[in-house]
Parts: sequence; structure tokens; C-alpha cells
Amino acid sequence: MTKYIFITGGVVSSLGKGISGASIGKLLQLYGFKVTMIKFDPYINIDPGTMNPYQHGEIFVTKDGTESDLDLGTYERFLDISTSKANTNTAGDIYQTVINRERIGGYNGATVQVIPHITDEIKKRFMALKDNCDVSIIEIGGTVGDIEGLPFMESVRQFQLENKKEDTLSIHVTLVPFIAAACELKTKPTQHSVNKLREIGILPDIIICRTERRIKTMLKKKISLFCNVKEECVIEALDVSPIYYIPETLHKQNVDSLIMERLNIKPKKKFDKTWFKKIKSTRVFSKIISVAIVGKYVTLKDAYKSIDESIDIAAAELGAKAEVRYFRAEDKDIVEKLKSCDAVLVPGGFGCRGVNGKIKAIAYARENKIPFLGICLGMQCSIIEAARNLAKLEGANSTEFNKNTKYPVVKIIDEQKNVKYMGGTMRLGNYKAEIRKNTLAHSLYGVDEVDERHRHRYEMNPEFIDILEKVGFYVSAYHNGVLPEIVEIKTHPFFIGVQFHPEFKSRPMKAHPIFVGFIDATLKNK
Ligand code: GLN
Repeated sequence: MTKYIFITGGVVSSLGKGISGASIGKLLQLYGFKVTMIKFDPYINIDPGTMNPYQHGEIFVTKDGTESDLDLGTYERFLDISTSKANTNTAGDIYQTVINRERIGGYNGATVQVIPHITDEIKKRFMALKDNCDVSIIEIGGTVGDIEGLPFMESVRQFQLENKKEDTLSIHVTLVPFIAAACELKTKPTQHSVNKLREIGILPDIIICRTERRIKTMLKKKISLFCNVKEECVIEALDVSPIYYIPETLHKQNVDSLIMERLNIKPKKKFDKTWFKKIKSTRVFSKIISVAIVGKYVTLKDAYKSIDESIDIAAAELGAKAEVRYFRAEDKDIVEKLKSCDAVLVPGGFGCRGVNGKIKAIAYARENKIPFLGICLGMQCSIIEAARNLAKLEGANSTEFNKNTKYPVVKIIDEQKNVKYMGGTMRLGNYKAEIRKNTLAHSLYGVDEVDERHRHRYEMNPEFIDILEKVGFYVSAYHNGVLPEIVEIKTHPFFIGVQFHPEFKSRPMKAHPIFVGFIDATLKNK
């Protein structure tokens, strides 16, 4: 029988429900359970693919090409799983399914309503992965009390009613703020939040309290009394860095035992502490480097979440600490600013804003032999830079930015149109890249073929490969022998551009080879 753990949040958003859930999932994995996580987002968009990163943070792309919430990245990194469409749901997608079913007469003339039709669809999706796991952790996005979240909360209530008590468990993540003027932690917001949840009919079994200060026993007793949970089920979640320490902090408070007891499950193996040890051992560092990210959404760290994590993980694996600094590509003095950094990364993006700054940053890294990594649009910009400055193709561009360019070195190509797309006209999700021998890419991966995640429309134009290779700018991997996947410059300490998003495949126990190579070269170059 699959067990279900529901995670809801209260007081404010961004409390780290995803991280809390994933940390609990990690602990259960360390006891041998097969765990998955599913996200339910109450917004009306069908998926976050069309949302501005400032609204939503990074778009995480799964192996099957689903454009999803960045929490799926957290699930993948903590649990070392590959998620897919079934791991992410939005109100928009659920309503669309129900409405489409209504249009083809699927409800036999009934009045289609939030209860039971929308809630039935939600409950069906709670169980979507039940055959593949022992425990399914279900995160409800937003905060208790949100109007749009109500059908989801109601579905949790119904689901708990319809299943045995020992098969479901509810965890509420709240904030216990420190009020400086009173020099006190305050429990009232948590009490209100839990009251709201109980009004809806969900009784939390465990309360995870996000806090900046330690929560003393007295305060735990108070939360326990007012919120109707046992004192040992009031869990303190202090801010910790890196976030991969969180499973251990929860383990020390017995959260795993409480959950197993409540769900009536016995460990499948002796608790495996290797994960804790490995995380600790990689966090002892003697060297610090700084990596510049030259992008568009530089004031919101979450816009480049997986890149940030990938750099951190790779540096940790190499016994170093990487300080990531964000620079606005449009800034006039962008090159001047980069002089204080040891490496340059140009991430993915859409639209022409900041492209010239990105190209300048790439020229600076190439000419001054500063380690460079270009991801997706970053790779495409490196092709434009090489075409203009190395091959002297004046005005070379991507047709995304200039439809009439004389030298369309990046464009939507015919071969690409034969690729079967998952959504719209984008190449989305996993595609194979065949790696040429004797290249930097081959030495990093150590294999002839890899699968990497894509999210783009434009490609390097194969007509320009010969011209660029003659000036030392090589294609080191192809998809289907046609579409360039990786470009590099051999005479540079580390200059690589990838058409895909390696950042989605980094794991804390398994840094991604492209990022390891990038950080390693930066350490050696310093
Ligand atoms: N805008 C470019 C394209 O669509 C790059 C996309 C990206 O960086 N994810 O091809």
C-alpha cells in the first residue's frame, strides 16, 4: 500500500515546503523506501512555461519535456529521481482536463462542479505515481487561506477521509517570526494558520516551524497546545546552509521515526548515513572562486536556481567554495565589472534584451582566457561572437534577433522541424548528443553519448560549421549527426557552449561533469 504525505504551508510563501518535503523524502529513502514527490500549483496557467522568471523563478525542464515549477528541481536533487509530467500539476491543467471531458459528454449530463468533479480529478492525480513508490509526498503550492488553493485543500481532506488513517499524514510548514522590538519569537501566526487548516478539515500531524532562532521547549509546548499536535511533532527548522544539511537536522528531531510510526511502516533497511557523510565531507573547502553569471533576471536568485546549485555542488565536490555574482547583461560597463571574477557563465534566455552585453562578456572571456560556460542562449551567443570576431562575418546573428542577417549562424533549421516535439515548436526535454572523440566535451563526460535536457527553438546553423572550425571554434557533439549540441575552443583553458541545460541534471552526490570541468579549470586558472 502506498503511503501519502501531504505538505501544506501557512503564514507566508517561500517557506521551503519543497525543501522540507524533499528532506523528509530523503530520510525515508535512507531507510530503503522508494519515494516520489508531486507538486500541485493552484495557479490557472497550464504550466509555468510562459511565465516571466521574475514571477515564478526558473522553469525546470523534466526529461519528458514538461516545463515545470522549480520545486521539481529540488525533488530531483534531493531524491536523485527523474520527474516527469505526472509530478507536476496546475489548477489550469486540472480544470482544462475536466472541461475537455465535459465537452465530449464525459459527465453524462451532470452539472460539473468544483466538488466533486475538480476534487475527483485532483485526488486521481494524488495517486498518479502510486505504483512506482512506497511513499508519495504531495506538496500543495501557495498558502492556506488562498482562495485558489481551496479545491486542493478540500481534496486533501476528502482523500484523508476516504483512506485509512495510517495511510496518509499531513505536515504543515509555518513561520515562527522573531520580533526584534519584543526580542521574542511569536507563535500567533502559526496558531492562525493551523486554525485555518483545521477549519478546512485538515488536522496537521506534524508542524515544521521555519525560524531564525531556536525554538525553546516552552514555545513548542505552546504551539502543541494551541495547534493540537503532540509536542514532539513540533519541529524546528532553522535556516541552514547548504540546504542539504536539512535532512540531518530533521533526523536529529526524530521526524523520520514519527512519520514511520504514524504511517505504520517499518524501515526496509538499516538507516544509511552515507548521504550525510558525503554532504559533510564535500563542504570542507580551502579555496574560494567567484563566478559571474551574465544574464537578464539578475535580481531574483531563483531565476537561475539550478545553475546556482550546480555551481555550488561542483565546487563542493572539488573542495572549493564558489561565490556566484550576478551581472545585468545590459549594463554598459559589463566587461569592467567582470574583471573582478574568475569565470564567466552566460545562461539561457529568450529575446534580444542584453544580447550585446552577453556577446561582449564572451569576447572578454575568450580573449583573456577566462573559463567560460555558455548554456543554451549563452552557447548561441558564443557562436555569434566567434562568427563576428574570429571568422570576421560582420553582422552575424541569430535570426531570433535579426531575421535578415547576412550570416544567420543561429536559426530555426529544417532538420530540426523533423524532430518530434513535445510542446509547441520547442525542442523540449531529453535528446541524445553524440560526442566527438578528442574533444574537451569527451574528456569531461568520458563517454560517447549522453542524454541532456533541452528547451529552445533555435539551433546553430550547420552551414557555418566549417567556417567556424577553420578559426578554431569546434563542434564537439551532435544530435542525430546534424544538430550541434556542444561547441568549444581547444586553445582556451576552458571555453564550452552547450545547447542543452546541464544544470537540470546536477545532484549533490553527483556533480555534473560540465560544471566540474568549468570549476576545475577556474581553480587551476586562478
Ligand atoms: N532563445 C533561444 C532559443 O529559443 C535560447 C533558449 C534558451 O536559452 N533556453 O533557441
